This record gives sequence, structure tokens and C-alpha cells, in this order.
Amino acid sequence: MRVTFATEAAPGRPNEDFVAATPNAVVLLDGAGAPAGSESGCVHGVAWYAQSLGSTLITTLVQDDKALAEILAEAIKTVASLHDFVCDLTHPDSPSATVVMLRRTADALDYLVLADSVLVLDMLDTAEPLVVCDDREARVGAAHRAAMDALPSGSPEHTAAHRRYVETLRDHRNRDGGFWIAAVVPLAAEQALTGTLPTEKVRAAALLSDGASRLAARFHLTTWRQTLDLLDDPGPAELIRRVREAEHDDPDGSRWPRAKAHDDATAALWKLS
Ligand SMILES: [Zn+2]
Repeated sequence: MRVTFATEAAPGRPNEDFVAATPNAVVLLDGAGAPAGSESGCVHGVAWYAQSLGSTLITTLVQDDKALAEILAEAIKTVASLHDFVCDLTHPDSPSATVVMLRRTADALDYLVLADSVLVLDMLDTAEPLVVCDDREARVGAAHRAAMDALPSGSPEHTAAHRRYVETLRDHRNRDGGFWIAAVVPLAAEQALTGTLPTEKVRAAALLSDGASRLAARFHLTTWRQTLDLLDDPGPAELIRRVREAEHDDPDGSRWPRAKAHDDATAALWKLS
């Protein structure tokens, strides 16, 4: 087996994505939170949250054979206990993160997907990859993003509309009928998409933060099959290079309206056979 990954921050910002692998597990997280300049109740920030939750998850995956959702619930609690005595975790903008977890056991592959990072499974018995994507945030957001999408990315008006959009979505975070993401509430883990597949049926698995999945999902410049091929050869760094190239060709978001002109981008490929 072979794991390769690449990660790159949006230009000029700290990287709030996290990726880690062992011989039998891979985790990818995409930190999310209040836009720069907003109060969040947490002195540590979004990158710290994603790194703390991700490193707790990968450590537990090595030591523990509990169900993935159970491991995630406990990790959310553990990370809350690392800062609840200094930070206000009741703040509605406390840092959060999407989560993709993959674990290989003796004969099976377990997966978990929470919020908008994407898992693409290259199956030996079907031509089309199996794409596991939790689109609840996108569905909630679709009703509220028209004003933001109509404005040129990078303009002060777009920045203000993005802030209003984030504040609106916040009211739907970790609530029934809204969307679920790892933050303070361990219950969110129960809302993740989970499954188990026979290992011998999976050729490879790709994990993508939405800053990397946008090449296929938002820009439609590759299919998911082509995304898997690109990750295999020349590799994850080339996928991110193509994302940046597309973003630079559409700096104001007129072709592909998006909340952020550039986002942190992380891509991992796990070849199982
Ligand atoms: Zn904190």
C-alpha cells in the first residue's frame, strides 16, 4: 500500500487543513470558523482546532478498534477539554472542522465523512468511483448565497456578504435540519456518513478538502475518475497546482462564484491494491 498527500494554504494565510496517515489509517480535516476579524470565543484559532482534533484522531485510530463515530465523539470531547477552561466554547463561532476518517482492519475498510470534505473510493467492481460527500451544508447554504455569489470575489462588498453568509449559516450549525460539523458537541459524530467495505473491493481512496475537490465538484474541470488518475500520477501536488491555476484564471469568481477566491487545499491518495 502507498499513501501520498499534499497540502497548501490559501495564499497569505495559515493552513487550517490537516492530514495524517499511518499504515492503516488516514484522516483529513478542514478547519472552519469565523472570518478573520470576528470574535470566536477561542484564543487558539481554527488551525489549532483542526490540528488538535486530527492528531487526537490519528493517535486513537492506532490504539483503538471502536467504531469510527465513537472515536470521533470522544476526540471532540478530548479537544474541548484542552481549552474549555480558557476559551468560551458556548460561543456560536467556536472553531470547527470537517472530518474524513479511513481505517483498514483485517478484511474491511471503515470510513466516516462529516461535513464538506469529500471521500472518493475507486472500486474494483464498478467503473465509476463511489463519491461520499456530506452535502447538508451546501443544501442549507444554497438558499442564502445568492447575494454573495453575485458580487466579485475579493471586493469589500463580497467580503461583507461572505461575513453575513457565514453568520446566517452559523444558526444552522449542529442543529437538526441544518448541518453537522466537529466543534464542541460530541453528538455531531453520530450524524456523520459512515460505512464499511470489503478491502479487496477497493483499489484506492482519495480524501479531499473542499479547496481541492473544487477542481471536480465546482469547476468541473475533471471528472472524479480523472481526479483519481491525476492523484495517482503525477500526484496530489499537481491537483492543487491545477486548482490554483483555475482560481487565477477566474480571480473575481465570475465564472465559478465561490465564498473564497482561494482556499486551503489538501489531497491524499491511499492505494490499497
Ligand atoms: Zn481555544
